[in-house]
Amino acid sequence: MRKLTDIVDFTEITPDAAITADRHGGRAKCLQRLIRIDLPVPHTVALSFEAVHRIALGQMPDTEALLAVFGAAPLVSVRPSSQDPDWGGPASILNIGMNDARHRALCDTHGEAAANALYLRFIQAYAVHVARLDPDLFEAEGSSAETVRAALAAYAEEAEEPFPQDPARQLLEVLRSMARAWEGTTARLLRQAKGAPAEAGLGLVVQQMALGLGPEESGSGVIQFVDGTTGQRRITGRYLGQSQGRDAVSRQKQALFLTRDPRGPALEDRCPDLFARLKRFGETCRINLREEMQIEFTIEAGRLWVLDAVRVQRSARSAVRIAVMLADEGIIAREEALARIEPRAVSELLHSQVDPTGRRHVIAQGIAASPGAAVGRLVFGSAAAQASAARGEACILVRRETTPEDIRGMHVAAGVMTERGGMTSHAAVIARGLGVPCVVGVSDMRLNRRDGVLITSDGRKLHEGDIVTLDGTNGQALLGEAKMLPPALDDAFHALMGWAEAACDIGVRANADTPADAETARRFGADGIGLCRTEHMFFEHDRLTVMHEMIFAAGPEDRGTVLERLLPMQRSDFIRLFEIMQGLPVCIRLFDPPLHEFLPQSREGIRELADALDLPLSDVTRRVQALSEFNPMLGMRGVRLGIAVPEIYDMQARAIFEATIEASRKGQPIVPEIMIPLVSAMREVELVKTRIDSLAAAVRTERGVDFAFRLGVMVETPRAALRAGDIAQHAAFLSFGTNDLTQMTYGLSRDDAGRFMGSYVKQGVFAEDPFHVLDTEGVGELLSIGAERGRKARPGIVLSICGEHGGNADSIAFCRTAGFDYVSCSPFRVPVARLAAAQLALGATRRPKHGRY
Ligand code: PEP
Ligand code: MG
Repeated sequence: MRKLTDIVDFTEITPDAAITADRHGGRAKCLQRLIRIDLPVPHTVALSFEAVHRIALGQMPDTEALLAVFGAAPLVSVRPSSQDPDWGGPASILNIGMNDARHRALCDTHGEAAANALYLRFIQAYAVHVARLDPDLFEAEGSSAETVRAALAAYAEEAEEPFPQDPARQLLEVLRSMARAWEGTTARLLRQAKGAPAEAGLGLVVQQMALGLGPEESGSGVIQFVDGTTGQRRITGRYLGQSQGRDAVSRQKQALFLTRDPRGPALEDRCPDLFARLKRFGETCRINLREEMQIEFTIEAGRLWVLDAVRVQRSARSAVRIAVMLADEGIIAREEALARIEPRAVSELLHSQVDPTGRRHVIAQGIAASPGAAVGRLVFGSAAAQASAARGEACILVRRETTPEDIRGMHVAAGVMTERGGMTSHAAVIARGLGVPCVVGVSDMRLNRRDGVLITSDGRKLHEGDIVTLDGTNGQALLGEAKMLPPALDDAFHALMGWAEAACDIGVRANADTPADAETARRFGADGIGLCRTEHMFFEHDRLTVMHEMIFAAGPEDRGTVLERLLPMQRSDFIRLFEIMQGLPVCIRLFDPPLHEFLPQSREGIRELADALDLPLSDVTRRVQALSEFNPMLGMRGVRLGIAVPEIYDMQARAIFEATIEASRKGQPIVPEIMIPLVSAMREVELVKTRIDSLAAAVRTERGVDFAFRLGVMVETPRAALRAGDIAQHAAFLSFGTNDLTQMTYGLSRDDAGRFMGSYVKQGVFAEDPFHVLDTEGVGELLSIGAERGRKARPGIVLSICGEHGGNADSIAFCRTAGFDYVSCSPFRVPVARLAAAQLALGATRRPKHGRY
């Protein structure tokens, strides 16, 4: 006797049937929705995941009973219905039920050509997908009786039995083969690659055929109402007379346009009434399914059927426009519009992108370090980049790795590519800040500067001046000029960002070093500057010379004199930043890098420097050598330099205070935030604080003006995190520098990790590059300890993160849970961070599955 569960093998899809996406799959659920809104969907039956799984195990449903739902002499199709349509499934099979008798009957009703074509199509699909016979034997096209006979004969020969004539058996075999295909290893691996769980279920839908071949107007097509690339309202699709399935898409040359089109005939002209109905269906779908759908339709002897509808495939920019349009029209709530957009996708809107529909000739592959794409001529040095900019030519700067000396070249380059480096290497950090596309760690290319050639992995030799496209979004360089899409900072983007800002419950600031960065930060709605790396201000040509003089000064007094020349420059930098930020907080980090970064390393550079300083070459060489360190990232930098050479911090603090007085005159009083880098002990903070406090007092007295400021500490050494309790006693805020903190926690050089990170991630040593995605377990534990100890010592202390992780959704989730006040990231990541934070605040940690259609 059959158990009760076995009896529920299939469910007819009616408005009230118990169909769910979790049990029957997205297609079955969507078809029910279409039926509920009265679209003319042919009779359809759904098989649940459980039923299909049983079929795979050999427990077959009663296909005779199933076919009885479709009346006498049924013709049906079977389509997959996985939980998420993106997970794919076996190919659909149409025209099940075709046999000799049905063929004869159709010859009378639909004409011989249509009957032959339908039968042939079914024999071919059954032979290849169900009986698994050699596809080469069943490739014949046409609609003659001879081709049908030949296909039947080939089947009988290969399968060693005649083509099955019983529709119930045909359906049984189709269901069995589809169920088994889904459970096979290949399908399992494929769907896992698309993010599906290994055990994801497959449902199947059996639908009455609407033939699309035969008398009067018969055919099939697809229609959608928005452009999948831009999101603009536009009807696209094709219709092909005497066709089935997606023939109209695969045979576009013969197909009709839908709307009137100068390029050829259109369905709108041929069948205006049907076309008008299709348009209404689109509108009904949009309103009731709350989504832009692509509709698959068939016209059968002048009668319109809707076979299926799927969510329109869309680019990031199109997704944003669609979500905003639906919210503006009141079809979905703004919260849902926010939840529908993948935060990472937003960064695609901020930059030019390689058009995904164009051809790509990949010549180099590396780490996608800064998104966007640019076309330009190859240059192999900063001087060449500047010369190229002077000629008004876009260039792609390629270096083995970049150093601070390359900043000027990077500023003018359209894109940057380096052989070495990882997500937080110099090139990556600067490029992200500038919003310039960047690919780093391209270990399969070789740059030979002396011969002026770049050798790609396939042995191709490129020279300076050759045109390439750099795709920083995908970490690739492409040969020649690729087809591009411009940025999409349009009304839809701004609307979405406005809603995100309103929903956010954690601050989002920008890491901004220059006025241009600050302007970008403002444009993207940052809540302030969370990190201004002041050393970047010293690489301008006139300042670099003064820096050199400072480094070569004979003693503190001399040094002080040279620094006095830098003071007005720094002051004007800060005034500009304060003005641009218009009262929003600005956190200025005191000088951080080791001094040798400002000195040339090449003989030629050292000679030039000796000339400029009018010093003997040997003096300069000695000084450069004296400043070199075995491990500069762990050497005399940050607060260590600030304590050893205090005149630098003195000058910077004075510049900040004088700028504060100046900028406050024009508007609201400004309260600057001053941050001390690379702290590892409380005493370091005490020493710097004492000097800064006394400088503030001196400036107040000299100027006769009072002002406030806040002094904080950058927590980027493991010891600072562990001793955050002591440190917090002297700090108004703690900002976690997760780049250095990751480097020091792992003992992993942020500049060299790119060499092996790929293979580490591939082999599962690290789940992700920890410089890219915050290691919440190890580095995260230090953040939690630091936050907790800091807060305990000083309740109300402001906590933030300012490493490159600040713009990443997972890191933001971590910071929110740990009660941080804000995250700070490069200006171009502010919108991404903002949207991620808004989604977290709205509780949309799991975005709704719009893939359900
Ligand atoms: C950090 O270390 O996380 C940081 C923000 O500082 P930088 O990248 O300048 O070392
Ligand atoms: Mg740091």
